[in-house]
Amino acid sequence: MLIKDINRMKEVIKGVKKEGKTIGFVPTMGYLHEGHLSLIRCSKRDNDITVVSIFVNPIQFGQNEDLDRYPRDLERDEKLCRQEGVDYIFVPSAEQMYPEGFSTYVQVEELTGGLCGAFRPGHFKGVTTVVTKLFNIVQPDRAYFGEKDYQQLAVVKKMVKDLNMNLEVVGCPIVREKDGLAMSSRNKYLSPKERESAVALYKALVRAKESFEKGINSVEELKKIMEETIISYPEVNEIQYIEIVDPDTLKPKNVAEEGDVVALAVFVGNTRLIDNIRL
Ligand code: AMP
Repeated sequence: MLIKDINRMKEVIKGVKKEGKTIGFVPTMGYLHEGHLSLIRCSKRDNDITVVSIFVNPIQFGQNEDLDRYPRDLERDEKLCRQEGVDYIFVPSAEQMYPEGFSTYVQVEELTGGLCGAFRPGHFKGVTTVVTKLFNIVQPDRAYFGEKDYQQLAVVKKMVKDLNMNLEVVGCPIVREKDGLAMSSRNKYLSPKERESAVALYKALVRAKESFEKGINSVEELKKIMEETIISYPEVNEIQYIEIVDPDTLKPKNVAEEGDVVALAVFVGNTRLIDNIRL
C-alpha cells in the first residue's frame, strides 16, 4: 500500500504496533535497483512488516548538486516493492516534510568531517535530520542501510547510539553489477562510454586489496596504485578522494591494517560515484 500523508503513516504504524508486530524499515531516494531490493529482502527476513520510504531529500543536496535531475520513477518503484512483498511504501512530499518555518536539525560531529563530508558540506546534517524524522514517523524495530554508503551507515549508527534511539541499524553488503560497478541510481547518468570507465572504482579497490594482501601496507603506496588504475580509464575526469580509514572512527590511516575501509569518490564524466572495500 502506498501512503503519502505523514499522519496517515503514523496511524497505520500505531495499528501495526498494537498488533505487536515488528517493523523493518528501508529508507531510499527511489529509482530502485538490486541494491535497494537486497535491503528489502533482509528486512522481510527479520521483521513482520516492512516499510520502504521513497523521498528525494532536498536538504541533503548541495547548491550545485543533482537534486533537480535525480532520477525518479514511482510507478516502477511501486511495482518492484509489490513484487518483493513490501507492506507499505511511504512517499511523503517535501512540503509536508519541511513546511515553512522548519528549523530543527540533527548533526553528528566527528564522523562527518572527512571522506564525503569534506566535499559535501551539510550533506550528512540533511541525512541525519531526515532519517530522524522518518524514524519518528515509522518507529522501526530495525532499519536497513547499505555499506555502499559506508560513511552514511557509520553516521546513522552513531546517531542512534548517541541519541538512545530505540532501534537496531543493520548494515547490508554492497550489491554490484557483473563487472563490479556498485549499483547506484546515479549510474543512470552515465553514457555508454562512461559506463565502461565507471568500473575504474571497483578495479582500483580490488587492486588495493590484492596489494595489501601481498604485503603492501603503506597507504601512500596503496593510493598511488589506485590512482594509476583509475586514470587509465578514459572517461574519468577527477579523483575527488581516496582514503584508507579506520572502520569505526573513519580517521585516515598512514599504515593500513586488516579491517580498514578503502573508500573513494571519482567523477566519471560529470557523474560523481563512490565505492569502498574492506581490507
Ligand atoms: P539511496 O536511494 O541511494 O539513498 O539508497 C538507499 C539505501 O540503499 C542506502 O542505505 C544505500 O546505502 C543503499 N544502497 C544503495 N546502493 C546500494 C548497493 N549497490 N548495494 C547495497 N546497498 C545499496
